[in-house]
Amino acid sequence: MLRRGLLKTLVLAVIVGLSGTGCGAIRNLNLYSTKEEVQLGNALDKAIRKRQEMLGDARLDSFVAVRGRRLVGHSRRRDIGYHFAVVKSEAVNAFAIPGGYCYINLGLFRKSRTEAELISVVSHEISHVVNRHGMKRLSQINLAGALTETLLGGRGTAANLAANLFTSSGMLYYSREAEREADRDGLIMMYEAGYNPMGMVEMFEMLRQGRKSEPSAWANLFSTHPVTDERIQSARTQIAQLPPKEGLMKNSPQWAGIISYLNRKYPPPEEKEE
Ligand SMILES: [Zn+2]
Repeated sequence: MLRRGLLKTLVLAVIVGLSGTGCGAIRNLNLYSTKEEVQLGNALDKAIRKRQEMLGDARLDSFVAVRGRRLVGHSRRRDIGYHFAVVKSEAVNAFAIPGGYCYINLGLFRKSRTEAELISVVSHEISHVVNRHGMKRLSQINLAGALTETLLGGRGTAANLAANLFTSSGMLYYSREAEREADRDGLIMMYEAGYNPMGMVEMFEMLRQGRKSEPSAWANLFSTHPVTDERIQSARTQIAQLPPKEGLMKNSPQWAGIISYLNRKYPPPEEKEE
């Protein structure tokens, strides 16, 4: 048995070793079946829930889940079930893990100025699942000759370690190219589902702005999803190329109600002066 410290070192070594690789073929290789992915997702979800409290608010969860499933209906991947949960955390963050699990922090929900902004993040996270980005990352690690068995063993420390790989506090996250792909596919997905894709640009701009005014609350999302000029420009360019479409919405009729419910039930924490 590998002890945890050793395991961590091994993972880090593998990641460092891989970070220099520029081979698209290796980056896109997925060694795992859908069944294995779903098993891993289930185990990771349990591990994540042990360390990260979910809000457990049926109304907020269902607001996200109903829209998330509608988005999935416009995606290229409908062979698995998708799960959506609002996380009890004010950090402005969201993440997805293999097997169809998407987590949206309360803080991100609260900061979204429009439904389209919130949806842009949900679409982005779904796109990581659709493109199997997590499983491709694991495949890279496997190729480097480590850990598969431990990761898929799915118990105790191994599951925790695997959870580390995919959460905001983790050592490993998706590559820049995976982020670009999630932006592109996410933007199309929200547009197909009837949302105004400018919501993505506006979300990026808000994230960039928020980081300047409240660095601590925003640091998390920035470490995993750095918003760069390139990302904003790419989204604008992509939108300019989309065929015009009538009735794209920024907010559904339920938006105002859900936000006022959220702020009533979970009043914003006092703004801290940095
Ligand atoms: Zn991402």
